[in-house]
Amino acid sequence: YTTLSALLAYQAACQPDAIALSDRERALTYAALDASVLEVARGLVFEGIGAEDRIGYIGRNSLAYFELLFAAARIGAVMVPVGWQLSPREVAAIVTDAGLRLMFAEADVPKSALLDPAIVRSIGVHGDPLNHWRHGGSSVPQRSDDERDVVVQIYTSGTTGEPKGVMLTHRNLLRQRFLDKQAGLPWACWKGDDASLISMPVAHISGTGWALYGLSYGAHGIIERDFNPADILAIVEKECVTRMFVVPAALDMLTQEQAARPRAIGLRCISYGGAPIGQRLLQEVRAHFACDLVQLYGLTESTGAALALWPHDHHSADPAVLRSAGVALPDVEVRVADFASGALEPHGVGEVMLRGSGVMAGYWQRQAETADAIDADGWLKTGDIGELKDDGRLIILDRRKDMIITGGENVYPGEVEAAILEHPAVRECAVVGHPDARWGEAVVAYLVLDDDATVAFDAELLQEGLRERLARYKCPKQVIVTHALPRNATGKVLRRILRDAAATAGA
Ligand code: AMP
Ligand code: MG
Ligand code: MG
Repeated sequence: YTTLSALLAYQAACQPDAIALSDRERALTYAALDASVLEVARGLVFEGIGAEDRIGYIGRNSLAYFELLFAAARIGAVMVPVGWQLSPREVAAIVTDAGLRLMFAEADVPKSALLDPAIVRSIGVHGDPLNHWRHGGSSVPQRSDDERDVVVQIYTSGTTGEPKGVMLTHRNLLRQRFLDKQAGLPWACWKGDDASLISMPVAHISGTGWALYGLSYGAHGIIERDFNPADILAIVEKECVTRMFVVPAALDMLTQEQAARPRAIGLRCISYGGAPIGQRLLQEVRAHFACDLVQLYGLTESTGAALALWPHDHHSADPAVLRSAGVALPDVEVRVADFASGALEPHGVGEVMLRGSGVMAGYWQRQAETADAIDADGWLKTGDIGELKDDGRLIILDRRKDMIITGGENVYPGEVEAAILEHPAVRECAVVGHPDARWGEAVVAYLVLDDDATVAFDAELLQEGLRERLARYKCPKQVIVTHALPRNATGKVLRRILRDAAATAGA
């Protein structure tokens, strides 16, 4: 199969009675999900939805979302999942940009006065939320059969600018299945009895992409509405979850919870990624979870995973291996673009460039931005700065936009953060450039201290330690202790907010 509808039909034929998806309200077998999706697809047709129309969903992770997604796929429409944490203004901007024909909104999401009530369809949180949209009848909507069709449009998290609609095709979303088979990756060792936790928001590739990945193996997807670490681990134990994907911020919460109240859990593998992970957290994860670990590096624009650090790499004696984001997946090529010449190099430092079957179809109705992001040869600019080693390992240094230029020197905040995090009393940190009359930008560190650290925090000692590890120009000119770092919905630190705060404070 090469499309979402065909995937569902295939699983419904092979294992009709296996549970496909469940949330706290309902569980549907593959056969039941396939049947349900057909009814909902008819309902969408009844609402006047056709091929290439955009329909939205705003709400927590739910089974209803996936029924709508597959129903859209069935009739060639495009699903636009919208983050429930977004402000009314941000939601309205997406609705307008996508030209949504319908917006399914969970009843507990505050309705924005900015939305046209004509397109909003409020759905319940309990029972069968799509009850009103199920239609029987003989007219079977036409199935989209082209793997190059766009089926999901995900808005980028916007840590750097305007949200843009990333158009993902069936091929983009189902690529891993072919590649695992062909390459025999360890990651491919999924079995039909795997239970996979879908706990990252579906408005992100880490939610929707991960869920589709499990379904393509015929696994059982367990959908969680909220990310509460104690509840998550209770579910992992009760439902015998074997696989999950989490971002590092979520993994940190799970690790602290597991350290405080250890549970006997049967996880086979934790996949993590989507943002940089600290070395200390990685050690703690290894100490508290005795399962395989896979780190994934990728972007929404690459349909998630493009590189992976495999389980055996996590046992490497070489610390440089653990600091890397691993090697390219078999269907991905990676290069670094030289800052000065733009030439693509197989090793060295530069902007990370990716090519392969995960690269998006483009940004919705943004030709100029698409042409800027993907060159004529199909190379995707990631906006990340990386160092590509001779053995193909990629070390992510930082985002290009976050690079600090101080006194003419380039400073990668991630390198400074890693050095600061070696201080045992520091839990989290973010390094940014503040505008500075003398240096252009000055390196400034924001820290969150560890409540139960055994060592007291001493800013002087920290600075002293840093001067031993880092060039003088990389050491922070200022250290600010704060109680929390601003993060987006997927746990990425919003350095922009720290920079803007400094700029308005006239620092
Ligand atoms: P998004 O497109 O919003 O999912 O974010 C993609 C960005 O997340 C990348 O460009 C990287 O900056 C960051 N990222 C994703 N995975 C990793 C990883 N494993 N290590 C470091 N940074 C990552
Ligand atoms: Mg992005
Ligand atoms: Mg992400």
